Amino acid sequence: MEKRLNMKKNILIILTGGTISMKASDPAGVIPSNEFADFLRQFPQLNSVANVEVMDYLNIPSPYMTPEMMFELAKLVDLKIIDYDGIVITHGTDTLEETAYLCDLVLTTRKPVIFTAAMRSGNEIGLDGPRNIIGSVRVACHPDSIDKGVLVVMNDEIHTARDVVKSDTGKIDSFISPGYGPVGIVDPDKIVYHRTSLYKDNVWTDQLDTKVELIKAAAGMDGKFIRCCMENDIKAIVIEAFGRGNLPKSLVPDIQAAIAKSILVVITSRTYTGRVLAEYGYEGGGKHLETLGCILASDMKGVKVRLKLMALFGKYHDVDIVKRFFKQSVL
Ligand code: ASP
Repeated sequence: MEKRLNMKKNILIILTGGTISMKASDPAGVIPSNEFADFLRQFPQLNSVANVEVMDYLNIPSPYMTPEMMFELAKLVDLKIIDYDGIVITHGTDTLEETAYLCDLVLTTRKPVIFTAAMRSGNEIGLDGPRNIIGSVRVACHPDSIDKGVLVVMNDEIHTARDVVKSDTGKIDSFISPGYGPVGIVDPDKIVYHRTSLYKDNVWTDQLDTKVELIKAAAGMDGKFIRCCMENDIKAIVIEAFGRGNLPKSLVPDIQAAIAKSILVVITSRTYTGRVLAEYGYEGGGKHLETLGCILASDMKGVKVRLKLMALFGKYHDVDIVKRFFKQSVL
């Protein structure tokens, strides 16, 4: 199919950094290198797949990425994609799922936008970067990639930005969509999509409000992080609770105080897969938290809920409106 169409598409590759643009050296360790853009411009296999242009936008480790930078990147994509058939973005793996998700929320384009990365740096044996780039450009060129939202291509698999997570610190098959699986694969002969995600969420905003924090539950914790949020004018607190969305009862007074101050408290789970649910009625259980006014965020992970709330507060400002939009948008 790909071969029969035989019309080369115009693809822009935007570089932001990460291991894919890094090299190992002694004694510095793995650090950013400036050679990756030139490497891509001369990468012969790429030009047989598409007409490719490379934009050397950033060269940072992705732990340096901020929500503001993610949003700037999304605005760049919005502008640039007018002139291309699709865009591939290279990124560090550490925060890739966050940048990809924020772009998925705020972008309006129907054209393919693909994030990719590498688990191995440029001079490691068996490096995955070039293969991931070729796979991503092929996916960006494929007609079935239109209208799928932002996708992540790693290790010959295609994932949605909503569901993908980095699951392993070092393996090349680190990127998975827990509980759901990839939406497609990149095979040598063709791109195959084998499922569609039924769930697509957008918050078309022209700004973020970053006063949203994320707290992870741990056995025996108290409410000091919640109190810290209250002292710092935070508008929403996302709590990665246990299991179905349960917390130690020692947190309840501070959660009540936060809600009384009109801070939105959103409950997600630190458990790998599954939805949070108003099931347990004991003090601190998900059902009890809901009666206190907490919002349960279904199967969404904490880091992504945090970004979504930043987008919603950026758009609507008012806590009650944000609450209503958030509630009606979760599964
Ligand atoms: N620390 C690196 C980064 O996220 C890891 C990677 O790119 O794979 O930039």
